[in-house]
Order: sequence, then C-alpha cells, then structure tokens
Amino acid sequence: MKIIKSPNSIYKTIAELKQQGKTIGFVPTMGALHAGHISLVKHARKENDIVVVSIFVNPTQFAPNEDLKNYPRPFRKDCEFLRNENTDFLFHPSPEAMYPNKSKTVIHVRKLHKFLCGSFRPSHFDGVTTVIAKLLNIVPATKVYFGQKDYQQSVIIKKMVDDMNIPVRIMVLPIVREKSGLALSSRNRYLSEVEKAEAANLYKSLKLARQMIKDGESNSKTIISEMKSFIKKNIADSKIDYISIVDPDSLNSLKRIDGKAVVALAVKVGKARLIDNIIVSVPAPAPKKEVELGLG
Ligand code: AMP
Repeated sequence: MKIIKSPNSIYKTIAELKQQGKTIGFVPTMGALHAGHISLVKHARKENDIVVVSIFVNPTQFAPNEDLKNYPRPFRKDCEFLRNENTDFLFHPSPEAMYPNKSKTVIHVRKLHKFLCGSFRPSHFDGVTTVIAKLLNIVPATKVYFGQKDYQQSVIIKKMVDDMNIPVRIMVLPIVREKSGLALSSRNRYLSEVEKAEAANLYKSLKLARQMIKDGESNSKTIISEMKSFIKKNIADSKIDYISIVDPDSLNSLKRIDGKAVVALAVKVGKARLIDNIIVSVPAPAPKKEVELGLG
C-alpha cells in the first residue's frame, strides 16, 4: 500500500491509472477504522481494479465545541487494517494540504442539510459536502463508497454529485453492527463498558419501531413516543437529540407511514453522540379476496 499525502500526486497517479482503463474504488474516511469501514473497503476491493482509501479528520465539519481535537487517530493500526485488505493507495493529507490559503469556497446543498443532524450541527454538512467534493476532484474514482450509518450524509452527497455532474457512482452499504446490535462507530471508544452495553438499546428501539409498523401502527408520533420511553428506561446516561421518521429521499418528517421510511436517531450516551437508523416499509395490504357470487 502506497501512502500519499499530496493532493497533486494522488490526482496524477489515479488519473493516469484511470486513463489506462482501470476502475477506481474510493472509500473516504476519518480513520479510527473498524469493521464498518472495512466492509466498504472489501466491497471496493471486489468491484474495482484499484482501491483508494482516504483518512482525513476534516476540521470544517466539526463545530468549535465538538471533538475535533480528541477524535481518535490510531494511524498505524489503520494502516495495518488497510494493508490486510490489499488497499492500493492511502491518501492521508494534512489540513494545510487540503485547505491551503484558507480556501473560501463552500459547497452547500440546500434544504437537505436542515433536517435530522443538521438542526443540531448547523455547519456540519457544509463541511462534509465541501470536503467530499474536493476529495472526488482529487481522487477521480469510478465508484465511491459510503455507509448507511450516516444516512443523511449519503442523501446529501447523492444530491450534490447529481447537481454538480460529478462523474462517479455512489454506493451506499448496510450498517455493520456489534453482536449486541450497537452500530460500529469510531466514537464508540468514548463509551465505558456499561454505557456500551446500554447503547445497544438504541438499535433495539429501532427494531421496536419496525415491529410496531409491521403490527399496523402508522402514526409516527406514537412510535417515536414509545422509542423515547424505551431509550430513557434502558440507557441511564442518555440525552436524545432527535428521533425522527422521515421520507427516504426528501428527509421530510412523515406524520403517517404508508410506504418506505427511515427511522433515524441521534442520542448522546455519556460523552458519545451516537447516530443510527433503519429503513422500514409498510407491508402492502393483502389483496382483497374476490367474492364469488353464485348465479342461480
Ligand atoms: P467516518 O470515518 O465516520 O467518516 O466514516 C467513513 C464511512 O464509513 C462513512 O461512509 C460511514 O457512513 C461509514 N461507516 C461508519 N460506520 C459504519 C458502520 N457501522 N457500518 C457501515 N459503514 C459505516
């Protein structure tokens, strides 16, 4: 695995490989890699000739009160993981290399950034879209891989790529979870053992929502209220930022669920702000039985 720090040199390398007809799979990350990231890398490996992973803890997506400084950076271990997956290139730029001369351009996707996490982290998605647009220019990939774990992020990036005619295919892959159901996250390392065990109840609350919907409940308020009670009862040190049921594309809140929907939550457990979601769909109504009318 070749580690490249300069945006210019990774661009030249990848552009040349692409010109030779190679397909390029790209996995952008902030490092502190776990099996969730690795599943993206494995898919990229399977589907492309060349695999590029980036590790960049992007300062512009953190608000001043957030965990930029303390965000875990176990670089050596990350490299080991990536070598084991036969990654070809690791792009690992410094903040100065990514943002020389305090660049003034921001990519802003209207409306979609306001929902869910956006209302608690107002500048977050501008930071994400700007860095992903830059990364997609620096690494001219064939396919770029994201996790459903950051559902809103995947919707916003899809819209940006579409609106800006960025020539890349976006692949969104399922959430990888611990046995307990807890979604893997770099931020899980902020949890104590007890908090970690309790945090598994976030997924249980999502499954509770899915079961309620399966059993015929379609009122979002009722479902959210059950989920809130469940979380409060089962996670001692928890603060719910939001639990929402939204349209999978527009991210608008749904009062009633009558098709596909995303149940999404963000909850602070101890020092960690955790997000998770599931996609649900209302079972189609059983076809009405035709009543045979006997004539005569
Ligand atoms: P991050 O390093 O947190 O920026 O995440 C990099 C990519 O990995 C994003 O596309 C995430 O959605 C994805 N990811 C993070 N956690 C998981 C997980 N548990 N399962 C699948 N993908 C994940």
